[in-house]
Amino acid sequence: MLRARALKLQKRKWSATVGAVQTRPVQIRLATTNTSETYVTEEGWRKASLKSCPNHPEGGCGFARHGTYPRVEPPGVKVARWYCARSQMTFSLLPDCLAVRLSGSLHEVEQVVVAVELGTSIEAAAAKLRPDITLPSALRWTRRRIVPVRAAMLAIVTLFPLDFAGAHPTVLDLRRCLGRPDVLVALRGHERMQLSHVSYPLGFCHPTDRRDQRPNPSQHETGPDTRVGPR
Ligand SMILES: [Zn+2]
Repeated sequence: MLRARALKLQKRKWSATVGAVQTRPVQIRLATTNTSETYVTEEGWRKASLKSCPNHPEGGCGFARHGTYPRVEPPGVKVARWYCARSQMTFSLLPDCLAVRLSGSLHEVEQVVVAVELGTSIEAAAAKLRPDITLPSALRWTRRRIVPVRAAMLAIVTLFPLDFAGAHPTVLDLRRCLGRPDVLVALRGHERMQLSHVSYPLGFCHPTDRRDQRPNPSQHETGPDTRVGPR
């Protein structure tokens, strides 16, 4: 009963894209070829499986399935989660098709980035993408997608140039290089992509994780995130 109440209180503090118990939930990649549409129609969260606790692979910590939490988009989508009683943490399995900390799918985010790459300016693309809101709001919405995606593409292309045959860090060039239309899904599943070091919408590094690692909070970040594994 108390735990149910704590769950309810904590849930109010987090966005609709994450679930929570008593600490920030840890997201883990669910490798899948599902699109967001087929993930919903096939109820992919029911098949999701996390065999052991990431914190206690030896077991004995009260690790158990902990239901699901819903996301706003696409309609009907749910994410499976587990709970470790010893560390009082939840773990959720986010399928490759869904964006982190943004509603909707990685495919939808990719479409935004492509619209900017093909457009004459971010302003022009934003106005076209979100005619339903003011231009400043449309710009914020668009930048919230393109800035982290560009950073992730630049990082992986720079760090592993041989894997990407000298491709430029753009969706259009990476599509050509990888020979597939879903670059962001491909990058999330790339063997060199360390999702715990990459921020949304591709990876699971939380912004506060990055702030925590600054040697001095008043200084800008001076190097890459070095945290490994869930907190
Ligand atoms: Zn555990």
